[in-house]
Amino acid sequence: MRTEVAIVGAGPAGLLLAHLLAADGVDSVVVETRSKAYVAARIRAGILEHSSVELLRSAGLGANIDAHGDEHRGIYLQWPGERHHLDFVDLVGRSVWVYGQTQVQADLHAAAEAAGRQVVYEAQDVALHDLESERPFVTFTDATGAEQRLDADVVVGCDGSFGPSRSAVPEAKRETWERVYPYSWLGILADVPPSTDELIYAWHPDGFAMHSMRSATVSRLYLQVPNGTDVADWSDDRIWEALSTRLGASQEGWELRTGAITEKSVLPMRSFVQQPMRYGRLFLAGDAAHIVPPTGAKGLNLAIADVALLAPALVSLLRKHDATLADAYSETALRRVWRCEHFSWWMTSMLHQSGDAFDAQLQLSQLRWVTSSTAGAAGLAENYAGLPLGF
Ligand SMILES: Cc1cc2nc3c(=O)[nH]c(=O)nc-3n(C[C@H](O)[C@H](O)[C@H](O)COP(=O)(O)OP(=O)(O)OC[C@H]3O[C@@H](n4cnc5c(N)ncnc54)[C@H](O)[C@@H]3O)c2cc1C
Repeated sequence: MRTEVAIVGAGPAGLLLAHLLAADGVDSVVVETRSKAYVAARIRAGILEHSSVELLRSAGLGANIDAHGDEHRGIYLQWPGERHHLDFVDLVGRSVWVYGQTQVQADLHAAAEAAGRQVVYEAQDVALHDLESERPFVTFTDATGAEQRLDADVVVGCDGSFGPSRSAVPEAKRETWERVYPYSWLGILADVPPSTDELIYAWHPDGFAMHSMRSATVSRLYLQVPNGTDVADWSDDRIWEALSTRLGASQEGWELRTGAITEKSVLPMRSFVQQPMRYGRLFLAGDAAHIVPPTGAKGLNLAIADVALLAPALVSLLRKHDATLADAYSETALRRVWRCEHFSWWMTSMLHQSGDAFDAQLQLSQLRWVTSSTAGAAGLAENYAGLPLGF
């Protein structure tokens, strides 16, 4: 097989990159290790930044967001006895959208199918070769058991944190940073209308809790739990009770609605960056290059921002033989990556219990400041609603 851009991974980064490249007439083939059904059903992120929505709209992928997405002006931040609303639109003129990653993924699949773009699912033993040459290639075993070779001009690793692309960069040519947090999130999806109009981020002595949503009838909620927590130890009743307490049930008449839990999982939290995001003819995008804890709602948005930068760089490289943007990709992308790494770490550190009493007082002081000072609130709002693409 031969294409111009071999893309490893059919998550949001991989499928969006293929879509953006096709708009400029550049061919690609996406190679994905999971089945189409598995990728479509994965429950992950749910918040789109302002610039992600603008990019998806400009790429012709905004119709369902406009029809079914829910635009939010801001978020609530709370601690026992107090709940404050931060209005991002008033503060920085930018909103966010509640629109699930599963929906983004479905829109991208539909666009790929309508255009007849090639996505190879259930590829095993995916390996990247000759990345320093101008003729790199990817090998894999397809679903029928046949060995395949995909030749390309460029390979893009969009294969998340467990794919082979990141480690295809020789150790001597990469630098990595990692922080593992001493807690995880127990996340649930429930068939119950949200008990709030916008997301609630709650600091509580028992641990952080968050109330998010996917639609008018489906709620998404999270609890801070110790690392190594087994979901089997958390009955539905125990989960609802902990959520009610931490989210401030009975506070000023507010109550948490409960309903049937349809999904329950534990998500470890870590920060990770590998740089540079380019090695020869290999480019990394999305979770393949960086991971953030989900508190700042940045993972999916960063993946979108990376490919928004990479697509025009590859078009320029392959169509005009101009390497300027491709050469600048890693440095430019990393500026936003580190900003989002910092914001995600900061939100996480401000809201989760570390077990240290001094930390808790600092967190409360920080929360009082961001909810009472316009300067403090605007800093949070600007980062949460997202800096413009290209920052
Ligand atoms: C369980 C979970 C929950 C999350 N929740 C949130 C959240 O609430 N909020 C938030 O902002 N972010 C969240 N994230 C992060 C967010 O989902 C990611 O940042 C986002 O999916 C990044 O997109 P991506 O395309 O870079 O990577 P992925 O979506 O991870 O896509 C990578 C693709 O590569 C494929 N792949 C892996 N190995 C290979 C291989 N060997 N060969 C070929 N393909 C391969 C994978 O199957 C996958 O389809 C969550 C992530 C996880 C894992």
